[in-house]
Amino acid sequence: MARDQYTFTNPAELYADIEPQKGHQPEPGLDADLEPKADLGEDSYRGSGRLQGRKALITGADSGIGAATAIAFAREGADVAMSYLPEEEEDAARIAGILQDAGVTVLTFPGDLRSKDYCRELVAKTVEGLGGLDILVNNGGKQVFNEDITTLDDQQFDDTFTTNVDAMFWITKAAVPHLPGGATIINTTSIQAYSPSDILVDYASTKATINAFTKALAQQLAPKGIRVNAVAPGPIWTPLQVSDGQPQEKVAQFGEDTPLGRMGQPAELAPAYVFLASAESSYVIGETLNVNGGMPTP
Ligand code: NAD
Ligand code: MG
Repeated sequence: MARDQYTFTNPAELYADIEPQKGHQPEPGLDADLEPKADLGEDSYRGSGRLQGRKALITGADSGIGAATAIAFAREGADVAMSYLPEEEEDAARIAGILQDAGVTVLTFPGDLRSKDYCRELVAKTVEGLGGLDILVNNGGKQVFNEDITTLDDQQFDDTFTTNVDAMFWITKAAVPHLPGGATIINTTSIQAYSPSDILVDYASTKATINAFTKALAQQLAPKGIRVNAVAPGPIWTPLQVSDGQPQEKVAQFGEDTPLGRMGQPAELAPAYVFLASAESSYVIGETLNVNGGMPTP
């Protein structure tokens, strides 16, 4: 490996030469069709046994932040169950192969997070297939921009909430009875929770909800030794963004207004999830770890 996540590097220069391209994709979008390719840490993430023997379930694990997290978890020694949409089989198969190369058990469960039955079965099949569960990453999400609330489709509003909030609730509710003390739950929220864009009324509202859910549940589960935390990404180069996550004309400037002056890559998110999943963060509970290139947060 030429460089790994520990290589001393100026973060303003890391990835500074990568220019996002307009390249619209229909939802949910594929990493396979993203130009330029996102860095999921395939060639850089180096594990050191931080999650040895752990059993993880990750939603949206086929691409973007979830895929980078899955690669990191597997290289740290965790078995991984991957949730994703059936249309994303191409991305999921590639990631599953990378995880298998790390020598861990990999399970793939295509399905729709908007289905309560799928969410419940996802947890049951993960527990059965991995022989337990001790890391849950609620990361799958929907983001479709809309410029005018009078045209914000009721179905879109519902779908965004069902995917981002209801599924997190259903999966977490099903998972908690199986989680031992020491287990960790990590929810993916967003900078949108505090700095909502005018064109992301529904999406930003779900992310604020995820923050409150995380902080409330963290207090409830702490006495059992189950830690709940969140990661709040800033502008990260993933298929979510080019499949109507934002208008095409904004894609070329993606991330330029962050203090670091560039978009982030999924590979830069994965270490945050590893930290919160690992026992090393034993006293970190109800925290939101912002990974956003320097944008101020509350
Ligand atoms: P992504 O498109 O790679 O991942 C999102 C995943 O969500 C998809 O791969 C898909 O598997 C899953 N998903 C969506 N709808 C689903 C459904 N109905 N059923 C099953 N799975 C479904 O994009 P990403 O940016 O890596 O997104 C991951 C998380 O990060 C999301 O929660 C997103 O809101 C959050 N986030 C992203 C950014 C960013 O700039 N990319 C910023 C802040 C937060
Ligand atoms: Mg995907």
